[in-house]
Amino acid sequence: MTSRDALVPGQPPTAGDSSMAHDGHARANQLDAKLARLHSLEDRIRAIRAAISGRIAFSSSLGIEDQAVTHAIAETKADIDLFTLDTGRHFPETLDTLFETEGRYGFKVRVVFPDARDVEDLVASDGIYGFRYSVDARKACCDVRKVRPLNKALAGASAWITGLRREQSVGRADVPFASYDPHLNLIKVNPIADWSLAFLEDYISTHKVPINALHAKGFPSIGCQPCTRAVLPGEDIRAGRWWWENENGKECGLHTHDQSEADAPLVTTTGHAA
Ligand code: SF4
Repeated sequence: MTSRDALVPGQPPTAGDSSMAHDGHARANQLDAKLARLHSLEDRIRAIRAAISGRIAFSSSLGIEDQAVTHAIAETKADIDLFTLDTGRHFPETLDTLFETEGRYGFKVRVVFPDARDVEDLVASDGIYGFRYSVDARKACCDVRKVRPLNKALAGASAWITGLRREQSVGRADVPFASYDPHLNLIKVNPIADWSLAFLEDYISTHKVPINALHAKGFPSIGCQPCTRAVLPGEDIRAGRWWWENENGKECGLHTHDQSEADAPLVTTTGHAA
């Protein structure tokens, strides 16, 4: 059995699995270099599918970046497990986007929900708007509504596609095209990592991709309704997400394992969730 055969996607490597991790890093580096040489998103999706055996998961937030990736997946008919997380706190416009996407491409998007008991326990403990009162409470809500459902949906996957772009925030400035995630034991792939907002908007316009109506109302990055506000002219793309927290640490935990980054200090607790 080769080290590649021994890799168990979605299962965290144990202390004795350094060769498996090494193999994961090597394959991710190869894919990273390959994607950097390709220019079209469709070619990148095909290359990802060709390079990785097993289930490739794409978790769509239904935001503009992920809508572009969804379009390319639909165009290429690549065998990719497309799903979205329904946190229970979405804007109505986000659900409209889901409905329009299914109509446009003629397939159902798998909707992953949080565990009902976890949500009940959270609300019983912290209250319906508990996430407004501390970073810990906010992260507990993101953990229950986003991180745990995502980890469940990614279990057993060989790769995870995202719509992360380097331009989105300081914390994402060094996002590679592909990297090995030792925590999830899979290859995380960011096929539009190098896209500018202008390039993205041109792609969306050219292909008439359905996008969330809130993007045209000052919401470049759309998360849960209580935690997202419109941004002002000149503000950072992600300034409207958890705007009461430190600028560099505003992640929900979906894309961070380093808690030093996620544990950004609370700047103010007065901001109400958007
Ligand atoms: S973004 Fe806000 S409402 Fe959504 S899961 Fe995180 S804390 Fe909860």
